[in-house]
Amino acid sequence: MDRKTELLLKCFQKYQDNPGDHEAFLNWLACLFLIYPELNKMPLSWQGLKKICKKLKVKIIEEVGFSSFKGLCVSSNINISLGQKNNILAEGDKAKLISDSLWKSLSKSVKESGYAIVLEKGLPRLYKVFTLAHEVGHMLLDHHLFSDSSFYNIKEFQADFFAYVVTDIFPEYLDCQGKSVFSRLKELWLQNFYLPIKKL
Ligand SMILES: [Zn+2]
Repeated sequence: MDRKTELLLKCFQKYQDNPGDHEAFLNWLACLFLIYPELNKMPLSWQGLKKICKKLKVKIIEEVGFSSFKGLCVSSNINISLGQKNNILAEGDKAKLISDSLWKSLSKSVKESGYAIVLEKGLPRLYKVFTLAHEVGHMLLDHHLFSDSSFYNIKEFQADFFAYVVTDIFPEYLDCQGKSVFSRLKELWLQNFYLPIKKL
């Protein structure tokens, strides 16, 4: 095993052991840019994000009014009991809100690639790009592994931060103060986590 692989495994293990640990998350987030070089072309557009999904054989389904949520990332890992329906799971218990016919088309995609992403159809462009990036974040961060519901807010923050980093679009709920917290954290992350790992 080379040094890089060893480091990646170590970082992933650390993050998996304690997904709520800020530093472990920021480190693993930087590692993802080594594993998926496409991420380095930030800010990513809708097309850029779609390319990553295509490479990972993840289907993006746009559906009108599928639930009150704007996006969903579902996976085939059946070890998690939260939000499970037809052996597919989604964040929290959002899975329960999806119609049976949508579940059918999801099942096919999930069987093929392990994941599928559902987006509300007709979202404004920036919101749509951000939402797709957020769901890609859940997927690349392997959030389906953390079934403990106490991680829910942490996972949402991490997916939002991932989306902000790769698209340069702020989550829509942020006020001015929230935006400055996000951009400061991104700057810190770039200097202290992203650049050092990139130099490897
Ligand atoms: Zn989410």
